[in-house]
Amino acid sequence: MKQRLLFLGPPGAGKGTQAQHLAESRGLLHLSTGDLLRGEVAAGTPLGQEAEAVMARGELVSDALVRAIVRSRLEQQAQAGGGGWLLDGFPRNVAQADALAALLQELGQQIELVVLMELDDAVLVQRLLARGRADDNESVIRHRLEVYRQQTEPLIAYYRERDLLAPVEAAGSVDAIAERIAAVIG
Ligand code: ADP
Repeated sequence: MKQRLLFLGPPGAGKGTQAQHLAESRGLLHLSTGDLLRGEVAAGTPLGQEAEAVMARGELVSDALVRAIVRSRLEQQAQAGGGGWLLDGFPRNVAQADALAALLQELGQQIELVVLMELDDAVLVQRLLARGRADDNESVIRHRLEVYRQQTEPLIAYYRERDLLAPVEAAGSVDAIAERIAAVIG
């Protein structure tokens, strides 16, 4: 079974739901930069204060900030004896992907598979509107999709070139999608 995984896909594709489910059932560390940032915002930390307005606009917080978050969690896990992990929402641009590659090299670890969750824009927007999070109003959603197209989508070619990409159709029930993901992970 592959146990060092990235989840890639547009906002609303269901990465968080599937990642949480998979991490629990397989005992992997689930690292969601979105959840971690929302935790910082809720706790009112300096980091959260820096991130809050950027997230509300649907833009990406600084690479340095998310890199520091991911580095500290992965180092912690490695020091505690290692294990599998699942990154959800990171990397979100090529600079972050390069930074991740360098960090993993330091830790002597490798990405084993990148699960790409694919879904039509119309369905994405409907799902995000139904979710109703603070950054889920229609104009911010459109902007997040644009940011995804410009900054995150190049990672599809990036990981395809590295032979790591596994596309999964993200339409249907949560259970049906979970089965498709389980099939590609082995
Ligand atoms: P979604 O999956 O709906 O796009 P996330 O919970 O992953 O939402 O992220 C919410 C917001 O948190 C993003 O719009 C962005 O502002 C910020 N964020 C999360 N991960 C990153 C990252 N890797 N780099 C920069 N910003 C991030």
